[in-house]
Amino acid sequence: MTTVKHGIYPKAAKVELLPIESSDPPIKPRMVILHVAGSKTPNGLFNWFLSLQDTTHVEAHFLVKKNGAIEQYRSIYVQADANVAANDFAVSIETEGLGNGKWSKKQLASLKNLILWLHREAGIPLHLARAWNGEGVGYHSQFTQWLITPKSCPGPKRIVQIHKVLRPWLIKQRETIEKAQKAKLVSKTKAEISTSVAKKAPAKKTAAKKTAKKPPAKKSN
Ligand SMILES: [Zn+2]
Repeated sequence: MTTVKHGIYPKAAKVELLPIESSDPPIKPRMVILHVAGSKTPNGLFNWFLSLQDTTHVEAHFLVKKNGAIEQYRSIYVQADANVAANDFAVSIETEGLGNGKWSKKQLASLKNLILWLHREAGIPLHLARAWNGEGVGYHSQFTQWLITPKSCPGPKRIVQIHKVLRPWLIKQRETIEKAQKAKLVSKTKAEISTSVAKKAPAKKTAAKKTAKKPPAKKSN
């Protein structure tokens, strides 16, 4: 039995790592798959998953509770078996609640923070999953390849929340990150220009160089 200590969410309220079996290899995650836990969550999912280790071997990486607390059961760099064909590349997030319910505001806030950390930590893209073997943020019943038997996990109302709340939020996050990257690039370029100008010569010389370069291009015509 081994424990993997990296890939642990720093803001997890509780980290209880399940034993890692030989059938759970290391993974490089590129997908997040959202679930609903059903009725088994009052005291978290650790004992439930532990009881399944000798039979179905099912487990997830995280549980997000209704009060927003996050429990982690496995490093994101180790396989958890909750998504059939996606187990090799997916981080599984269980959420407290019954099939017919909705995510609470606190649950959604915690989910967003966790998704942002997964983006920063493992580079999981901030967009909805477009293919079962693609990347991004998906939900369990989104692709038949992720299911053993047909089900609606994480439930119809949460699927609406994914499209109406999470999707626009993901778009906004991408825009914010892109803006920040552009601003960083602009300030970097400005800094480079000012140092090179300071080191070498004023702008006049650069202009002279540019005009000097033009004649050879005319020759080739
Ligand atoms: Zn599920």
